Amino acid sequence: MATQLQIARTGTISDEVKLVAKAEGIDSEVIRDEIAAGRLVIPANKLHLNTNLKPIGIGRILTTKVNANIGTSSVRSSIEAEIEKMQAALAVGADAIMDLSTGGNLDKTRTTLISQCPAPFGTVPIYQVIEGRNVEDIDHKAILDCFQKQAKQGVDFFTVHAGVLKEYLPLLAKRVMGIVSRGGALLAKWMLYHNKQNPLYEMFDDLCGIMAEYDVCFSLGDGLRPGAIADATDEAQMAELRTLGELTERAKEKGCQVMVEGPGHVPFDQIQYNIQIQQKICRGAPFYVLGPLVTDIAPGYDHITSAIGGTAAAFYGASFLCYVTPREHLGLPDADDVRAGVIAAKIAAHAADVARGLKGAAERDKKLSIARSNLDWKTHLSESLDPETAERMHREACEKANGGLKPTLQSDYCSMCGQQWCSVRINKEIRETISR
Ligand code: SF4
Repeated sequence: MATQLQIARTGTISDEVKLVAKAEGIDSEVIRDEIAAGRLVIPANKLHLNTNLKPIGIGRILTTKVNANIGTSSVRSSIEAEIEKMQAALAVGADAIMDLSTGGNLDKTRTTLISQCPAPFGTVPIYQVIEGRNVEDIDHKAILDCFQKQAKQGVDFFTVHAGVLKEYLPLLAKRVMGIVSRGGALLAKWMLYHNKQNPLYEMFDDLCGIMAEYDVCFSLGDGLRPGAIADATDEAQMAELRTLGELTERAKEKGCQVMVEGPGHVPFDQIQYNIQIQQKICRGAPFYVLGPLVTDIAPGYDHITSAIGGTAAAFYGASFLCYVTPREHLGLPDADDVRAGVIAAKIAAHAADVARGLKGAAERDKKLSIARSNLDWKTHLSESLDPETAERMHREACEKANGGLKPTLQSDYCSMCGQQWCSVRINKEIRETISR
């Protein structure tokens, strides 16, 4: 009943390590070694593994992974809508799903989603701890019971905001946005009310016991992440990061797998520093970043602001990107928003993997480019990141082309330039002439 970390430390290669090694084209022993060093995790609750989980690895030597957040809110909740969102996310390549539900029947929503989720599934248990009670009323027993319950339901990773310490709260006074993490804000309220330390920090060893029992991976939450670029890399954020470094070591000593969460809103020029300082303080533990969003001024387009930051973050050292949808800051996303968010994050992750020179990444681009160059529309569209959208756009453009020749899947041009102006077609002719 050991965790992936404990198994790896004994020198044994688990079945899950073999699966990850095969999927990534990397030797199993290298994967095992990275897990043992705490630089790679396989979030795989033993109970989810027994049902439908297909394990993945998250770590620097692997392809960059993408998470999609879904979940009900207190003003809009429907299990069917969340299933639709999860399926939309998985269909376009989300590697993991987090259920951040705060409305409706939380247990039923979670267990229904897990039963249909082959990807690692994460939650923020503290959200459910306050269900039906005021945050001031939560106690250690309620927290432990909730962690135990969700672990038994098969959740693969928990966000735990244990690094938000009472002494860091005065550092927030100068901030533009204060605390934007829901978990961080709730815990801050509890600490101020009781004038006591963060209960998640106080009971961290007990939480480790539950996490290790089921091999639920820690995702150490950044409750003080900046919610505006003006707040980025401030003393509150750095103080919490140092505590997350301490907690990373404590959790690993207890045999738990650990990822560490990161910002947030960060100007482009501060991303490299943010990633490198995390990797140093947390000794290479996989870094899971939300965005980062590189500007605050684009509500409606925050999947783009976060993809710009996501590429930089993954290039400099992050292993796991949490998507952001176009609806960020504006409302609860629907399935179309989820789809747009996952695609944007997948582009960010792949662009970083190409720039990092990861095996097979640039080959994918080359395959598509060769098809494009040969005017092989079928391969061009099917090899794209989102074939459905690419095929639809091409078809619509063909249908709208008026007069003269209409482009089709067999055409040596498209409606963008027209046949006489198609540089790809002309290049094809030039190539054929040269090679004669
Ligand atoms: S017509 Fe223009 S856009 Fe279309 S394939 Fe040719 S060069 Fe590319």
